[in-house]
Amino acid sequence: MEQINVVIAGPRGRMGKEAVELVQNTQHFTLIGVVDHKGAANLDVPVYKDIKECFESDIPHVLIDLTTPEVGYHHTKTALEYGVRPVVGTTGFTPDELIELTQLAESKKLGCIIAPNFAIGAVLMMKFSQMAAKYFGDIEIIELHHDQKLDAPSGTAVKTAEMIKEVREAKVQGHPDEKETLRGARGADIDGMHIHSVRLPGLIAHQQVMFGAEGQTLTIRHDSYNRASFMSGVKVSVEIVMKLDTLVYGLENILE
Ligand code: NAP
Repeated sequence: MEQINVVIAGPRGRMGKEAVELVQNTQHFTLIGVVDHKGAANLDVPVYKDIKECFESDIPHVLIDLTTPEVGYHHTKTALEYGVRPVVGTTGFTPDELIELTQLAESKKLGCIIAPNFAIGAVLMMKFSQMAAKYFGDIEIIELHHDQKLDAPSGTAVKTAEMIKEVREAKVQGHPDEKETLRGARGADIDGMHIHSVRLPGLIAHQQVMFGAEGQTLTIRHDSYNRASFMSGVKVSVEIVMKLDTLVYGLENILE
């Protein structure tokens, strides 16, 4: 199998630590460096404080980014400019940023995978929700995460709503005269669907999609109980990004 050299940005983070373990324990992956803005990562590979400093001294095949939205966007753009294929788990990119990165990957003919959720079960939850939305047009998405998460709603919730939008006729849900007496009570609104974000210590990453119709409801739920649940998706992405020449958004688009 082809040897893949990897740099990880955000190696001290909760996801980053798992990714370091994954890369170090995968025979055909080699960790050649990490990007840590504080230079505090305690690893036996070069630790760079800045992404450009890293690429100026060594060019990996793949950058895995698990940082924060602004940093992740900057890292992804810089990687593509240097001819490095990004695998991005960082969530919270804006639609404009995604369009810009898609165009950049296209012009450079480089693979790039941005996946708001690397858990295979979460991808299936999104696919099953898209199937159900053909028959149930009234939908509430409830996403639940740990209280250190920076962005809301979660990338997975937005991605789920976008996938549902492809098959559901846009409609306003609830009573036409519905009024919020407390702002935010009905959550965020995408095309009439509502998204509710729960943040609590003790949680990791969970989502349920509720469908309602006359006399029945259907609930599709996925739970990640630890961050190792995301790593099989990261591994597959690092392997597949080497064969791509465009940006793919969402793990569901690379899995059979
Ligand atoms: P986290 O524990 O807060 O880790 C983020 C790390 O990024 C921190 O160690 C932080 O360091 C570091 N960082 C910040 N700026 C940096 C920079 N300029 N260069 C290098 N490192 C930098 O967060 P997490 O739970 O690991 O999540 C990371 C990202 O992945 C988030 O966007 C989260 O939403 C997303 N996520 C994705 C999935 C998925 O399946 N796609 C699953 C879970 C989470 P300091 O703390 O020292 O600033």
